[in-house]
Amino acid sequence: MKRIVLCGFRGTGKTDVGRLVAERLGLPFLDTDSLIEEKTGRSIPDIFHEDGEERFRAVEREVIAGLPEAGTVISTGGGVVTDPSNMEHLRRDSTVFVLHADIDTIEERLSRKPRPPLTGLPLREEIAQVLERRRVNYQAAADFCIDTTETTPQVAASQVINVLQNGVMSRTRLEPCRAFFQSGRLPPRCRERIEQILSENPEDPLTRILGVAGYPCAHSKGPKLFNALFERYGLDYHYTWFEDPELDEILRVAKALDAKGLSVTIPFKKDIIPLIDEVDEHAAQQIGAVNTVIFSCGTARGYNTDWIGVRKPLVDRKGSRAVLLGAGGAAAGAAYALVDLEMDVTILNRTPEKARAMAEHFGCKWGDISDFATIRPDVVVNSTPLGMKPEDRLPVKEELLHPDMTVFDLVYTPPVTPLIEAARKKGCTTITGTEMFIGQAKEQFYLFFGIDVPEATIRELIP
Ligand code: NAP
Repeated sequence: MKRIVLCGFRGTGKTDVGRLVAERLGLPFLDTDSLIEEKTGRSIPDIFHEDGEERFRAVEREVIAGLPEAGTVISTGGGVVTDPSNMEHLRRDSTVFVLHADIDTIEERLSRKPRPPLTGLPLREEIAQVLERRRVNYQAAADFCIDTTETTPQVAASQVINVLQNGVMSRTRLEPCRAFFQSGRLPPRCRERIEQILSENPEDPLTRILGVAGYPCAHSKGPKLFNALFERYGLDYHYTWFEDPELDEILRVAKALDAKGLSVTIPFKKDIIPLIDEVDEHAAQQIGAVNTVIFSCGTARGYNTDWIGVRKPLVDRKGSRAVLLGAGGAAAGAAYALVDLEMDVTILNRTPEKARAMAEHFGCKWGDISDFATIRPDVVVNSTPLGMKPEDRLPVKEELLHPDMTVFDLVYTPPVTPLIEAARKKGCTTITGTEMFIGQAKEQFYLFFGIDVPEATIRELIP
């Protein structure tokens, strides 16, 4: 049997529930806090008090790296989820449950059993602050969530065992989902895999689904990359295509399958915002476009990782004069990245009014594509789809490209677009859409699973 790992904030019942699950399944039980105390010969409060949290986290990392690989129930400390290397170890060939409870319940439980403070704040404020800070991490850690607010440890343990035996997909609700995938353009091997996962008697009821939501999205490299990463990191997931003109239909199927998350692409990055529960306030809200949705513990939360994929390859062009071609979903992330790099940005679009609206939002200049000739930028970012089809013209005239320009084409199929070819011929520095794809996929994988994949691994695995 795979390892069963329980994560969650202090006071959510990990140790009590874990011990009961282990007892009922006849498996050994390990608690990482107790292992740390055994290893150091000191209590957790003493380690915090005498050596500080950093030292505690270092010992915790060692303990987690040394945990047995199979057939154990493991309860972890509340902060393990914040360290990507912990998540890599804990997630491998394991089923991870995140236990959660509301703040009143956690406060009430913790006031009975004091723990070393994590901040200098009063208990309730500390709980709220740390929970908010770790929210992304708990979401990422969870294969399955158990709400312990109103349950006893015995009931929560039964819920864990029920999930382990039956999964969470209601077999009766799966027929329409099967029809959805049968009518889509899935390659035969992927169709077989989905059929197997959704069948009456799946090989493994714990396999969970993610996918790319778009129309069209058959060109997406997401499925091949993510499925290769699942194998590399020992994750029981399958990533597929949710291709449909109706976003409502995609979300209905994703919810019925209890999907872990979606990558969102053309044309849904803006449309999805009113259809999900929360939008990350840091980037996605300001960008006004979502390319990543995580379904976790009953909430659908949207993020934007596109801007990270645009920002990274341009980090050494800070303060340049830039032209952004296009004003759609990918352009919004790109504009946010360019402004973040303190560039002097002009947005040019086929429909200038859209460029104007976006420019006003981000504090940029705007214009019609024909204005390109008058600007002579240092950096050119193409966020139109021109270049995806063999018959496409270049987004700007070849004679307007100069050797001192950096040309970044966000289009990544084909990997070398006619714009990149033309720019290379002119002696420009070029950045292909694959660089953006790698940067945004790395961040997306972190949001989905809490694991920090090295860029080189993604480069090796992209099809
Ligand atoms: P979108 O929301 O549909 O926006 C497309 C933009 O391009 C709009 O501003 C549109 O102008 C303009 N446009 C479309 N067709 C055009 C044409 N024939 N001539 C001139 N302008 C045209 O699409 P998106 O989500 O932003 O995606 C754009 C591209 O970025 C796609 O090729 C996508 O594959 C790529 N992308 C790459 C990555 C990556 O990881 N490398 C990530 C995301 C997106 P109007 O406003 O006039 O319609």
